[in-house]
Amino acid sequence: MHWLTPRPEGLFCTPGDFYIDPLHPVSRGVISHAHADHARPYHQDVFTTPETLAIMRTRMGEDRAGTHQHEIAYHERFRLGDVTLWLAPAGHVLGSAQIVMEYEGQRAVVSGDYKRSPDPTCQPFELVPCDLFVTEATFALPVFRHPPPQHEIAKLLHDVALFPERTHVIGCYALGKCQRIIALLRQGGFNGPIWLHGALKPVCDLYQRFGIELGDLRSATGATKAELRGGIVLAPPGAIADRWARRLPDPVVCLASGWMQVRQRAKARGVELPLIISDHSDWDELLQTCEETGAAEIWVTHGREEALIHALAQRGIKGRALRLVGYGDEDDDTPAEIQAETVS
Ligand SMILES: [Zn+2]
Ligand SMILES: [Zn+2]
Repeated sequence: MHWLTPRPEGLFCTPGDFYIDPLHPVSRGVISHAHADHARPYHQDVFTTPETLAIMRTRMGEDRAGTHQHEIAYHERFRLGDVTLWLAPAGHVLGSAQIVMEYEGQRAVVSGDYKRSPDPTCQPFELVPCDLFVTEATFALPVFRHPPPQHEIAKLLHDVALFPERTHVIGCYALGKCQRIIALLRQGGFNGPIWLHGALKPVCDLYQRFGIELGDLRSATGATKAELRGGIVLAPPGAIADRWARRLPDPVVCLASGWMQVRQRAKARGVELPLIISDHSDWDELLQTCEETGAAEIWVTHGREEALIHALAQRGIKGRALRLVGYGDEDDDTPAEIQAETVS
């Protein structure tokens, strides 16, 4: 499709004169979701969902979230230059959107990050038929098949019941994963207090303001050892293996990530109880989605492009690796780690 081009700043739409998830400050940016690798500060005009803008303001400050902030509800049509746009739910985190663009009778959809498995904290992924589908590929290898999240939560609750003297500390990213785990724990019947590392509180508060029920959340910082014994504590992945977690009573270190399917990775990070819970599509979901869009052409933005493009070719679908660098920082792991693992 000639009217979309990969540039160092991100994907550029020529007839609309805007970037999608630009990595550097630009005059017009359309943002798929609020993870730090997709939503960067200091753009002039920012177009995204009200939820994404609220998260951006909470995390980076009012002025850094964009000089002119345009809140676009899901399915609301708007125009930039000669292009008609709308946002469709991506099922990734609260406010996450696929960016739908229509120009000269053609439709292109940029997925951003997405998943198809159910998530009580955001609107489900919506399939939008299109001519060109631009997909992520974080877990695009046939080995990645995420189990149902309820299984992983049941595993955790079983362990909590088995070791009532120990504290389960779960490493999870502050935006999306944390709130999803809390909501899944509530669905799994856990009604007790859930203790939070201070870094996780602001986004939890924001989710609650948007009407996502998370139940009894308390600060782990001021809590006594007696209060935390037998409890569930959530913390950023960086905190579970450091001094912060060691002061917890006999901690069971858990980490919730799609990467926990790789056993060496769990071991290397000192994780006793790996929880395979991902906010990205697994191999089957990626292939299923690419096929269901009916797109004749698929572009792959970031992740394991080669395997996906090969599998698409076998299905008669033309694939193209965009090799955009700079994405993949926050929501499931650092690019350095991802690269190291690809090599090994
Ligand atoms: Zn993301
Ligand atoms: Zn991403």
